[in-house]
Parts: sequence; structure tokens; C-alpha cells
Amino acid sequence: MSDFTEEVRKRRTFAIISHPDAGKTTITEKVLLFGNALQSAGTVKGKKSGQHAKSDWMEMEKQRGISVTTSVMQFPYQDSLVNLLDTPGHADFSEDTYRTLTAVDSCLMVIDAAKGVEERTIKLMEVTRLRDTPILTFMNKLDRDVRDPVELMDEVEDVLNIACAPITWPIGMGKQFQGVYHLLRDEVILYQSGQGHRIQDSRVIKGLDNPELDEAIGTYAEELRGEIELVKGASHEFDLDAFLRGELTPVYFGTALGNFGVDHMLDGLVEWAPSPQTRELTQRPVEATEEKFSGFVFKIQANMDPKHRDRIAFLRIVSGRYQQGMKIHHVRIGKDVRISDALTFMAGDRERAEEAVAGDIIGLHNHGTIQLGDTFTEGEKDRFTGIPNFAPELFRRIQLRDPMKAKQLQKGLIQLSEEGAVQVFRPVRNNDLIVGAVGTLQFDVVVARLKNEYGVDAVYEPINVATARWITCEDPKKLEEFERRNQDNLALDGSDNLTYIAPTMVNLQLAQERYPDVAFHKTKER
Ligand code: GDP
Repeated sequence: MSDFTEEVRKRRTFAIISHPDAGKTTITEKVLLFGNALQSAGTVKGKKSGQHAKSDWMEMEKQRGISVTTSVMQFPYQDSLVNLLDTPGHADFSEDTYRTLTAVDSCLMVIDAAKGVEERTIKLMEVTRLRDTPILTFMNKLDRDVRDPVELMDEVEDVLNIACAPITWPIGMGKQFQGVYHLLRDEVILYQSGQGHRIQDSRVIKGLDNPELDEAIGTYAEELRGEIELVKGASHEFDLDAFLRGELTPVYFGTALGNFGVDHMLDGLVEWAPSPQTRELTQRPVEATEEKFSGFVFKIQANMDPKHRDRIAFLRIVSGRYQQGMKIHHVRIGKDVRISDALTFMAGDRERAEEAVAGDIIGLHNHGTIQLGDTFTEGEKDRFTGIPNFAPELFRRIQLRDPMKAKQLQKGLIQLSEEGAVQVFRPVRNNDLIVGAVGTLQFDVVVARLKNEYGVDAVYEPINVATARWITCEDPKKLEEFERRNQDNLALDGSDNLTYIAPTMVNLQLAQERYPDVAFHKTKER
């Protein structure tokens, strides 16, 4: 194997999916701790102090502790090089979150074991299903009184429709949490509380029948032996192929806060999760180990100095390698560009990328020429498929304070929609501008950015729209009839695609029943 191929095979690019408060940030800290990226865990959310004067948007970003630097974190673990892509969690939930999931090769699902499967996790899992992304699962907060582990796994299987294969099994919980039994290694790893900020020298007892175990955890030992019998009989065994197909998830138990169990999960990640995967251009599949560079932009983040309108375009390298100063082809605009100052994301801080390979993320400075979904190659004139827009779930009407600025407003909104900050819909019947988003914070961001970057003073207000679907139809005649009869519900999006705007879900359902030849799409390919 060449050095290059080996470099690519070492990569593991993943994201964490979870409901707010399940422990994503805490796990991220511990993961970086294991990656030796942080001296002592506890600084991921602390990245809030800034040195520059910043726009309101930056202020908002700062308050929420989101920044470019935490968007992608790269760290070594064992013989692998791991890329962790952040998916914003709380109110800043956005389409970016969904789209980031198209740029990874596997996901870690974090579940609060006291709560079980929660709403946001269900949504994010739906998105991972678009690519059948392999999923690992971490049941968190075992240092608290949590739900019965069997019941938790049943819930994951029922609600998320994925088989569970326990890799570790918890011994006790809450104040009585003793540690876990590793089913594949046949060893018990004992938990010590109060060691959350460093890597634990945990005591390991080899073999379930080892008398040392009785000494160490007393009556829990016998209980555990019985339980493991049952668990082995009643649960799925780990099956690598089923995992890679996204049909089965290895399950780990632990406490991120107590820094226990995260390393077991990481061991599984580097051992089983796929190295950079093949992705599809419209004409052919591209393998990660192909020598020639290619990649696509999955996220654009407004940031930095508002005077320069500097944005960072996050590009996932699909194949080949990036080297500083190389020339790459910007497929959509048909031009070659020289990239001299891309960013890489070695944990903690952004640095100038000298070299990066398939599976890695680089940040390109974007002065307005890069759009979401753009493909870059080493000459090939073909683009990647599968970077979708997701039907927004929240809608607002944008109103101008100064009616003279209508042109700027429209321009600003269309640019912001190209960037993926928000989606814009223009009803065919009137001059409203409707923006759609998947998280409410996006509306604040749009209003702040319209003001800062386009000099437009706008506000948003509620509007009676429940959902939107992109429309296609094979039969032009039927499409025409559909259009004629549904003028009140039709709009064009930022790229002039026809969209159906439904005031209620029932309305949408009726329209779908009435026009069986018209397709109503929940996602739109970029
Ligand atoms: P996020 O919203 O998913 O990023 O969750 P955070 O990592 O911010 O965690 C939410 C809250 O749960 C914080 O107060 C954490 O300290 C707490 N937390 C995270 N992991 C654990 C754990 O293993 N045990 C306990 N008891 N609390 C935890």
C-alpha cells in the first residue's frame, strides 16, 4: 500500500447526533482528551473569549460558543486519524446540521440513558438513513439513575428501527455504578468516580468467572454473570456487515462526565467504522484512494471580519490530497482557482493546511464565489450528487422597515439561501418573501446578517405555512394543470425551483392524494 493510500485508510470522519443536553459537548471534550488534543478536558464550550470586534452575528455565535474552530476537530487515536464534525445542538439547530451528516462516513448517536430516544435524535437518524450511514451508540449518564438498559435498547430498536448489539454492559447505575463488562473482550472495566478530567487508569478484570471480580464488586458479580447470560441470549451479536449497512448499531454504556466508556466507543470507531467512502459524481463513483483531488462544499459559515465578508466554505475531500498552493477546478463556474490558504482543523485551533487527504475537511476562504454543494476537482468537469436541501419546518414572512430597499432585501435573501443559511420562497401570487428554516435561531441570524452585510433593516413575522415540498412531474400537461389549480400554494425557491407551500399538513396530504402524478419532495438536490 502506498503512503497515500495508507493515510486515507487511517481516516475516520464522523459526527455526533443527539438531542440537546444528552452530552454531546461533554463527549466531544473527552474524545479530544483521548486524542491528546486537550491537556485537560473542559475547554470546548470555553472557547468564547474573542479578540476582535465582531458583528452582532459574531456576538450571537460567541454567546453560543459556536465557532469555526469547533466545527471540525481532527485528532489521532491509536493508529487512526479521526475527524469529528460538529453538528450544532441547541437553538442553533439548522439545515447545516442535517447537511453535515452527508459529509461523514459514520455517526455516534448519544442517548441520555435516563431519557431514552428523544425527538431531535429521531430526526437526525432519519437524515443518516439517506446514506445508510453506520451508527455507533453511546448510552450516557450511567452515573445517574437511568432506565433499564434492556428497555433502552428495545426503545432504540423500535423507535429508530435499528438492531442493537451491546458491546459493553453496565454494572449498576447512579451512585452504585461499578463499571462495564466488555462482551467481546470478556473483561470487566471498573469505574472510579471523580476522574472526569483525566484519562483514568481503570482497573480491568479479565474473565467473567474470575474470583477477583467477586472481591472487587461483591454481589454485583453474581448478578452480572446471570445478566450477561440473558443479554447474550436475547440481543443481537455484533455483525460488521450489518453495521456497515446501517442496520445494526454497537452499543456502549458509560458516563461522559465521569469520562468512563468513551474510550471503549472510540476503540470501536477506529476498528469498525469505515474509512473514507466512495461518493457519486453524476457520471461515475469516485473512490477515496484515487490520486486526484476532489471534494464538495457542505457548509458555509459566515464569520470573521464583517468588513471583508469573509466566509469559510467547508469542503469534504472525497479523493486525493490537497497541497498548499495547488490549483483546483471550480466546477460550477468552470474556472481554475489556486488555493494557498486553506484551513485545516487539527484539534483546538485552526491552522493553515499544508496537506490534507480524502476524509479530511478543509476550510476555503469564500469571497462570494462558493456556494453550498459546489464541487472542486483536479480538472474533471463533473459534480457530486447527494448534497441536499431539506424541506424547512419553520416559516416566517420577512418585512422591510424601509420599502426602498426591496431589491437589496431580495438579493440578500437569495445570497443567504445559496449559502444555505436559510431558504427563501417567493409565492407566485404575491410579493411576499417567505423564509424557511429548520431552527428558529436561523431567523435571527438572517435578520442580523441582512442588516450587517446588506444594509437592510428587516423584521420577521409569523405566517401560516406548515411545510414546503419541491415539485416535479414527468408529464408536462399534468404539471401545467397542477400549477393552474394551485396558484395560491405555489412559490419559487432561491434557485427558481417550483415549491408547494402548505398551510397545514392535512392540506399537503390532500394535494398529494389529488395529484398522484406529481411528486412532492422533502429534499432537493443541490
Ligand atoms: P449537549 O447539549 O448534548 O452538548 O450536552 P452537554 O455535554 O452540554 O451536557 C448537558 C448536561 O449534562 C451538562 O450539564 C453536563 O454536565 C451533563 N452531563 C453530560 N454527561 C453527563 C454524564 O455522564 N453524567 C451526568 N451526571 N451528567 C452529564
